[in-house]
Amino acid sequence: MNTDPKPAPFFTGQGTRPYWIAGPCSAETEEQVMETARDLADAGIDLFRAGVWKPRTRPGDFEGNGTTSLPWLRRVKEETGLKVCTEVANAHHVHEALKYGVDVLWIGARSTTNPFSVQEIADALQGADVPVLVKNPINPDIKLWMGAVERIQRAGITQLGVIHRGFSTFGKDKYRNQPRWQLAIELKQAFPDMAFICDSSHICGSRELLYDVSQKALDLNYDGIMLEVHPRPDEAWSDPAQQLTPAAYKDVKSRLRFRLATTDDADFLGSLEALRGQIDEIDDEILALIEARMKLCDGIGAYKKRNNIAILQTNRWGEILKSGIAKGKRKGLSEELISGVLKAVHQESINRQHRIMKGE
Ligand code: PEP
Ligand code: MN
Repeated sequence: MNTDPKPAPFFTGQGTRPYWIAGPCSAETEEQVMETARDLADAGIDLFRAGVWKPRTRPGDFEGNGTTSLPWLRRVKEETGLKVCTEVANAHHVHEALKYGVDVLWIGARSTTNPFSVQEIADALQGADVPVLVKNPINPDIKLWMGAVERIQRAGITQLGVIHRGFSTFGKDKYRNQPRWQLAIELKQAFPDMAFICDSSHICGSRELLYDVSQKALDLNYDGIMLEVHPRPDEAWSDPAQQLTPAAYKDVKSRLRFRLATTDDADFLGSLEALRGQIDEIDDEILALIEARMKLCDGIGAYKKRNNIAILQTNRWGEILKSGIAKGKRKGLSEELISGVLKAVHQESINRQHRIMKGE
């Protein structure tokens, strides 16, 4: 029987401070890896990242140095005392990374989309006692993300975390990968005790957005932040636009504020309770108003049916939307909110009128 004490979870500070992961997108050369690690050694980070096998979208881009660079990560550990992590995408990567003493493994977004890859990684992890972080799949499919976590759990891995790196989009967007915070929050609800890390670099795609996205993640009670750091970002062999210099990283890190999940402070809890009570009352009023609006729509549906008039009156709907957005703006409400709410209500009203027309 194995009587070894159970190893401490990889992140003992969960709930009291952020977990920091930083390092270059790719391990390019031994000098670049060591230079970055030395610059980050006094930055108070928990884990040094560097991609050894790089899943590139197009062939011909730098695909990492593979096993050649694993001794560099071992040197980082020996010379700086930092723990190290890298991405694994198949069984061979897992065996090599474990052989060279990589402390934490992560599964990349492209692998998470493919259950065969995840299962291969899970099988290779059987019996290993290594923390594993699972990135979201590139497509906004929360079940794929959950499935990947479950496959790794079933392999007996107990120290698990997830990384939110955003979701691919079609066309031009402010973000390289849209955050879709709501999806990530749903996953967090499914796995409430798991460390939840935001990879702001791959969400943003450009340095300028990193602080805001990282602070938003901390405001949403994420446990940690992963950021790419390179001594000379513009010369990086992968992801140059989103990497920070070590100095810029330290500046961003020092400005980020961690929020506690909760507190015992009675005054705070009392005020929070009162405010939440008011919010619940307003939510009840909103529901009652929506119900009343739908009843009116049912009446209109019946009236249109009797007079043989089409459900959708394009002009009227256009006006409702336009004036709603304008009124909302005057009240300090975003166009996104107003158009989202009005469109959802309008769609429901059309569905109900359609049922009435069909005589259901
Ligand atoms: C990375 O972290 O360098 C990486 C390739 O990320 P992702 O899998 O999120 O694209
Ligand atoms: Mn990268």
